[in-house]
Amino acid sequence: PPALKQLAGQIGELTSKHHVTIFSKTTCPFCRRVKSLFDSLHASYHCVELDQIDNGKEFQDALESMTGQRTVPNVFIGGKHIGGNDNCQELFSQRKLIGLLRTHGYQYDLIVVGGGSGGLAAAKEAAQLGAKVACFDFVTPTPTGTRWGLGGTCVNVGCIPKKLMHQAACLRESIADAASYGWEGIGAADSITANWATLRSAVQDHIGSLNWGYRVQLRTNKVEYQNRWARIVGPNQVIGRDRGGKETEYTAQKILVAVGERPNYPAGVPGAQELGITSDDLFSLEKPPGETVVVGASYVALECAGFLAAMGFKVHVVVRSILLRGFDQEMADLIGAYMSEHSGVKFIRPAVPVSLERDSSSGRINFKVSVTPADGGKPSQQVVQCDTVLFAIGRAPVFSQLGLESAGVSLSKAGRIVVNDADRTTCESIYAIGDAAEGRPQLTPAAIQAGRMLARRLYGGSAENCDYAGVPTTVFTPLEYSCCGLSEDAAMEKFGKDGVIVYHKNFNPLEWTVPHRPENACYMKLVCAKAPGQEGREPILGMHYLGPNAGEVMQGFALGLKKGATKWDLDNTIGIHPTNAEWFTGLDVVKGSGVSAAATGC
Ligand code: FAD
Ligand code: NDP
Repeated sequence: PPALKQLAGQIGELTSKHHVTIFSKTTCPFCRRVKSLFDSLHASYHCVELDQIDNGKEFQDALESMTGQRTVPNVFIGGKHIGGNDNCQELFSQRKLIGLLRTHGYQYDLIVVGGGSGGLAAAKEAAQLGAKVACFDFVTPTPTGTRWGLGGTCVNVGCIPKKLMHQAACLRESIADAASYGWEGIGAADSITANWATLRSAVQDHIGSLNWGYRVQLRTNKVEYQNRWARIVGPNQVIGRDRGGKETEYTAQKILVAVGERPNYPAGVPGAQELGITSDDLFSLEKPPGETVVVGASYVALECAGFLAAMGFKVHVVVRSILLRGFDQEMADLIGAYMSEHSGVKFIRPAVPVSLERDSSSGRINFKVSVTPADGGKPSQQVVQCDTVLFAIGRAPVFSQLGLESAGVSLSKAGRIVVNDADRTTCESIYAIGDAAEGRPQLTPAAIQAGRMLARRLYGGSAENCDYAGVPTTVFTPLEYSCCGLSEDAAMEKFGKDGVIVYHKNFNPLEWTVPHRPENACYMKLVCAKAPGQEGREPILGMHYLGPNAGEVMQGFALGLKKGATKWDLDNTIGIHPTNAEWFTGLDVVKGSGVSAAATGC
């Protein structure tokens, strides 16, 4: 009939004018579902509510004659009939909907700048959800010429080589213990030596396989890998520069900045860049580092000092102020004491670097430091002759050639990218995650989680932001330290001295008893908020553990903290015997009570 034809014409016009058209009824739950699907994907649509117009029934007749479908919702995308709610949901779960909804005209949905922990996670997740993604990763060599492959800091010059070298250090301790356990033929502990070249190449081989694995993963997930330095030149434009200097322009609807950080060198210290190295060089050094001075007193410095000392190198640590700023200071001091008493690390503190010079006769480095005496008197200069100076004095993002200003991306006072809870920068189309974003924990799992969750929000219909509360962490020093939640110092600051109760204990790992390793070196504490009338059931604010396998111990407890565990929940948890972690399930000595926290028997 002519009326039907006319309506069919109208439907044709509507569905070609609007990229997404939904014929719906306000009372239909399936229509609500399909609309919320498009809303969650940030897709705009034109909706015709058939129960709100006079000729809704005739529209339905016309839709049936055109599509064979009378029911609502009746969805058209790009002028093509798609079907109802089920068809749309299926396209979404098959990761095809994002592609169908694309109208922006840019080359990519998402350009990720930085192929490290956060960038790779975001790129892979976004591509798996159906987005068209390119990932740019380019490593600028260090001042001494060290460069590496795809994967960012963690894989190449961070967590992975660090943990493997830490493991080499732990093995030395185990080998030293072995004779007490009846192993013969190993020789005296001080006769065993580490072969740097063997360790270095084993570590680098593993890294090489990870680099390759990441490339394969990108290809499998259809992420376009661009081994180019990316420079942002507008809210949706990036210039990629390859090794030969050739520049190409790329466009994307959205850009994610996940460029991480690089180690700092001290300003105004002659010879620092020419003769010093950083953690970016250490793990691939061709020659053994020899006697090493580590400058800095945080994660990187203490971890590197720890494994180098265990491998038999003489190690000095130049500490400007305190150890492990931001961490529980009691735990930090215990780490320092163990490193100097048992690992043979020599701390020079408080001290700052002055200059580095090559000694013409020995070829070694004369490293001048300025040391303040314990009484706070006038600093004096001291020269330490060494083979390597490792600067571990913090890290900063390299934004000088990134072009953030061209897109109106603001930086914080600390020089990192300002982001909101949803990782959006001050430019609508640009996001930032990982180490380079202000206020984020600078840890691999945090960057990965942020990347995945961002991709799910952009292309997966999710509205959830990354929750950075209660992120556990481990410092892989000779005596490992892990923690989750507040330090004792931070808890006192927040709740006042009288608002905090601390349960604590020294413990002797069973495996340390036979070889007679130091007693009472290991320590744990539970920082709780006092709850009057609820003694023994106080909410836990922080957990701290100093001992073997610290990371493995804290990972599970972190879940408890996240779920709001109390002291009673821990006491009510039956331990696994004989382990070190089990001591957490029965801490009964209150710090400051006068009762000794020293280790007791089984
Ligand atoms: P990164 O992993 O640094 O990746 C950024 C990438 O972007 C790099 O490949 C960089 O070359 C590239 N890039 C930068 N600018 C551009 C550009 N313009 N164009 C193209 N590419 C660019 N964390 C832990 O959780 N556990 C640990 O045990 C641990 N140990 C560490 C040990 C050391 C020695 C160091 C230095 C760090 C360690 N970290 C550890 C921290 C962890 O490595 C970082 O938090 C994590 O790598 C940050 O990830 P990201 O994605 O933000 O950046
Ligand atoms: P940090 O910023 O944590 O620490 C820098 C250290 O260097 C501080 O001890 C600081 O002393 C000192 N310092 C800074 N400037 C100077 C200077 N000019 N002269 C002498 N000393 C100086 O940096 P890191 O490189 O150790 O770590 C960076 C981040 O990497 C960490 O925050 C962490 O998130 C991540 N990381 C994680 C690891 C893990 O999970 N196990 C391991 C390694 C790194 P002061 O206290 O006086 O300022």
